[in-house]
Amino acid sequence: MKTIGLLGGMSWESTALYYQHLNKAVQQYLGGLNSAKVILNSVNFAEIEQLQQQGDWVQAAEVLKQEAQKLQRAGVDAIVLCTNTMHLVAPEIQKAMTVPLLHIADATAKHILAQGIQRVALLGTAFTMEQDFYKARLMEQGLEVLVPQDKDRVFIHRTIYDELCLGQVKASSKQLFLKIIEDLKQQGAQGVILGCTEIVMLLPETTAHDLPLFDTTSIHVQSAVDFMLDN
Ligand code: GLU
Repeated sequence: MKTIGLLGGMSWESTALYYQHLNKAVQQYLGGLNSAKVILNSVNFAEIEQLQQQGDWVQAAEVLKQEAQKLQRAGVDAIVLCTNTMHLVAPEIQKAMTVPLLHIADATAKHILAQGIQRVALLGTAFTMEQDFYKARLMEQGLEVLVPQDKDRVFIHRTIYDELCLGQVKASSKQLFLKIIEDLKQQGAQGVILGCTEIVMLLPETTAHDLPLFDTTSIHVQSAVDFMLDN
């Protein structure tokens, strides 16, 4: 089994899910007492979130590059960056590494296309829904991507930072997420990408309004397990 390096803490709420899912999947494949070979480097999210707010992506890339290099020196075979948003600086991180960074958007696009779905809605932070680093990468691989309207994007973004990253799961927020998904279905979405690693805490179900929900946390973990076990 290869060793995976988790670059997490963004937020730790979803990194805990990565750790749990990784171990469960390896145990399922190999049985018995088998568990995942993992080295975890978990950052202080407050420091990263401040750089996001300031739009200082150069410094954010620098910090994450250094943290990824620590994982590489510790001997990991690949890096998993446990957040969709910070893939904004994935190219800079990858350039500084000799081991691969398993890109969350590539794993997600592959998973969705394999199910014959082409037109998907994307929910995530404003950075993920509005900037090109994520959407364009999905589109290059053949997906058509819809995002919620302005006020819904603001609501989703705030829910991620003010509730989910703090471990708060509120029924009232869930209702609004479901309403947004219903609107996106009206616009022709055939599925919904939970493009933020914490959204699954709010929407753990696999479908909503008869649309499949694609949890990027689980999909990313599956790509890591495939890599670790040479599946
Ligand atoms: N974990 C979230 C994501 O997947 C949001 C937190 C962050 O900004 O990294 O995008």
